[in-house]
Amino acid sequence: MTFKPLLALSAAALALSTVAASADGAQATKQNDLLNATLWMQQSVEHAAVSRGLFDLAKLRLDQALADKGWTATPDKEGKGYQDKPVAIITDLDETVLDNSNYEASLIARGTSFSSKEWTDYVKSETTKAMPGALDFLKYADSKGVKIFYISNRTKDEEPATRENMKKLGFPMGGNVDTVLTKKEKPDWGSAKENRIASVAKDYRVVLLMGDNLGDFSDSAKGSVDARHAFLEKTKGNWGKDWIMFPNPEYGSWESAAFGGDWSKSSDQRRKEKIGGLKTWSAAPSN
Ligand SMILES: [Mg+2]
Repeated sequence: MTFKPLLALSAAALALSTVAASADGAQATKQNDLLNATLWMQQSVEHAAVSRGLFDLAKLRLDQALADKGWTATPDKEGKGYQDKPVAIITDLDETVLDNSNYEASLIARGTSFSSKEWTDYVKSETTKAMPGALDFLKYADSKGVKIFYISNRTKDEEPATRENMKKLGFPMGGNVDTVLTKKEKPDWGSAKENRIASVAKDYRVVLLMGDNLGDFSDSAKGSVDARHAFLEKTKGNWGKDWIMFPNPEYGSWESAAFGGDWSKSSDQRRKEKIGGLKTWSAAPSN
């Protein structure tokens, strides 16, 4: 999870409370852009089924990769002889293998918005859950001797609590190898993830990348909507094969792309640009 996208989580949480009086004095529930996305991710069998299905796909792909020494998810980052390096997979944490929907839900319930301090408090509460199917898949990969690297934009300060939370949930934690690579853990590790991916690929044959955000796969995530789709087309052979994307309608670079990535715009302006960018059906005038 990154800070700026989370600001948008509260784009509609403008309300001082979730209930307001309407003109006739009745109590109306205030709107919140985050409601349906959070409800879907937290409660729906549809989301759970998609998540489980994607981890099952990852297992199939991992089996294929283990049987094929030429298989790599990061061919541009691996030097000569990668075929004989130990096998690794790289996954994002938040909204890929970790489920923070209780935090998102709390924003809606309290009619409040994201703050980085509160997010750190949330991480330190160690109440994050595992996504449906994540543990089964990661334990399977671990049982095959595959090293699992977690590349996250949780910060170095948030890493100890993140590790404790994950250990309690039963995530494979890498033994004596540092497999939790957080933002600013090294001076040149910013939000962009490609240099962290490359640091893993230096010593491992990386056979899968997994994430819920384009930035988990490429630094091209910050482009316009059109540029992002052009990148999708250019990398179409990866998706569902060695790059596996998980659904996250709550937040992500897809959202900021809709208003030019300019978080200094007001929440109302951001919403206007999102609506303005929609491709709409023009209804015929009714008789
Ligand atoms: Mg994520």
